[in-house]
Amino acid sequence: MDTRRRFLSTSALSLPALSRALQAQISPSRRPKLKITDMRTAEIRGHGYQVHVRIHTDQGIYGHGEATDSAQGAVPLIRSFRRMLVGQDPLNVEALWERIRTMGIFAGAQGGQYVTALTAVEIALWDLAGKAVGLPVYQLLGGKVRDRIRVYCDSANHHPDDPQAKAKLKEIESMGFTALKIDIDEAGDPARYDRVNWTASNGEIDRMVKEVAFVRESEDKKVDLAVDMHGRYDATTGKRVAIELEPFRLLWLEEPVPAENVDVMRDVRESTKTPICAGENLFLRHGFRELLEKRAVDIIMPDIQKCGGLLEARKIADMAHTYYTPFAPHCVVSPIGTMASCHVCAAVPNFLVLEWHWISRLKLWKEFVKEGEIIERGFITVPDRPGFGVEMNEEAARTAQVPGSTWFQEGR
Ligand code: MG
Repeated sequence: MDTRRRFLSTSALSLPALSRALQAQISPSRRPKLKITDMRTAEIRGHGYQVHVRIHTDQGIYGHGEATDSAQGAVPLIRSFRRMLVGQDPLNVEALWERIRTMGIFAGAQGGQYVTALTAVEIALWDLAGKAVGLPVYQLLGGKVRDRIRVYCDSANHHPDDPQAKAKLKEIESMGFTALKIDIDEAGDPARYDRVNWTASNGEIDRMVKEVAFVRESEDKKVDLAVDMHGRYDATTGKRVAIELEPFRLLWLEEPVPAENVDVMRDVRESTKTPICAGENLFLRHGFRELLEKRAVDIIMPDIQKCGGLLEARKIADMAHTYYTPFAPHCVVSPIGTMASCHVCAAVPNFLVLEWHWISRLKLWKEFVKEGEIIERGFITVPDRPGFGVEMNEEAARTAQVPGSTWFQEGR
């Protein structure tokens, strides 16, 4: 053994140990392994009901995720995931996600509340991973293809009889939005003959057309208009409305029929020139496979806070991209979830536009994160800070806490 090798083999700092120490210094991904120590939840009523989850680690870093819509019941489900997360390395996001999903095959892991609870956890893991390696999350999802995310405003100012409606529509336009959406399904329409059956009468269809015409006339022609029917109507109505709305050159008509029967959605799409959009009530890649294979829609709109998470949304968007189909995510969550969605939208080539639904809760929206208002003239700039780049302003967010719920309580 030569002198050098003898020195290294007897030295406390051998060559491999020295190399490991050096790597740990220069590469954040080689830092001592993180371990998940706790998961804490909070429940908020913003636009609808949202569950927030924080995943804590042994190094003081935590990640923050948010889920919505089918999130009722998510808190006990998230608690049931603890045994699969505590003690694990949070940077292995795909492995943890797949473990929770496959462990739930008999517990409803194909969709609905189980997947929504898993979604909240997955989103928190990405925020955590970004903070741990010092990178914005879009960088972990493939890097960004755009700096700014186009946002459309969902508003209820479409009733021609509302004396305020025109001014409110003009206000949305003056805020810089380049697209907006209205809902034309109306359970209380006096022209409805039946409280259960959703076949629209001529009177109902006339009302719908009148509302769309009113918004179209009130807004600059350059502003895109999307129209939602919330999957309530039958196939005949869906087709009739889609055809009647053709002259308005809509950005899309959303869920003219329920989401479950893909063949019927395709029938509606094939009957009209109006672009058809669906997907907010579908889960995982599996939920979108048939929709895309059967060319049942022109645009897909997964809800990123319930469909399976950020990476799952990216995979769904990539599937859609192989059919040259745009990706326009549904989004009704706080600035935290919205910004999480923006990191996906920044990384996805076929992104079209992202929903924003908090115009009626503007004060809470603007104060919800420490960074303040994140929308500027109808666009969100994706921050270069580690993680999602926004942090909850607890004082403001807590004003919307669900009464009787716990607030990021240790061990909950
Ligand atoms: Mg909708």
